[in-house]
Amino acid sequence: MDLKFTLSGPRGKTCADCSHFQAPKPGLLNGMCFNHEVPATAGCNFFRKK
Ligand code: SF4
Repeated sequence: MDLKFTLSGPRGKTCADCSHFQAPKPGLLNGMCFNHEVPATAGCNFFRKK
């Protein structure tokens, strides 16, 4: 499956709602997903609900 990434994920399906997302450390904007920095507001087609 090809990655379809967007900086503005659909409501309720953003990185913040995804089980792959590690929340940002205090003071940082981006969290981590599979060793890549991603903003909590992004989204992609590998989304899996927490
Ligand atoms: S799998 Fe996609 S939606 Fe989930 S945290 Fe990673 S980039 Fe965001």
